[in-house]
Amino acid sequence: MSRIYLSESQNRRISAHLESAYPHEGAGFLLGHFVDGYIAATDVVIDDVIPSENSSAEDERHHRFVMTPQAWMRLEDEADRRGLRLVGCFHSHPDAPAIPSAFDREHALPNFLYMIVSVNAGRAGELRSWEISRDNQVEHICAVVSDDEWRKIMKWQTVN
Ligand SMILES: [Zn+2]
Repeated sequence: MSRIYLSESQNRRISAHLESAYPHEGAGFLLGHFVDGYIAATDVVIDDVIPSENSSAEDERHHRFVMTPQAWMRLEDEADRRGLRLVGCFHSHPDAPAIPSAFDREHALPNFLYMIVSVNAGRAGELRSWEISRDNQVEHICAVVSDDEWRKIMKWQTVN
């Protein structure tokens, strides 16, 4: 299990974006880098959060999020340019728990972090971080730290 470090500011930006998408599902991407963790885990520091437009059909927006290949390539380019990695994504579950849905498991990418936020009656609630596949899901610890603490963590040794 890894630890995912997210700053309070980033957490607020994620919440604000997902609340504004309500009652639809909102989403976005996570740029970050890896730092030393325990033997069996590499920790992830989130450098930036990038809210995304929902490009799925209007009548499906309440339960799924679709990303265009063009938008995906732009994100990877941006990550490369900034010396970061596209480490994962975040999305909301309007009025549903922050656990992977059958749709999430079916469409999961390997080695990719899925941050899920439960948005209940328009207010962002529980945030949980997962690595998922068709037949398994592993939860990681999401550590929301103060902006000061996050700046200290940014100085930790990066691993690849
Ligand atoms: Zn989902």
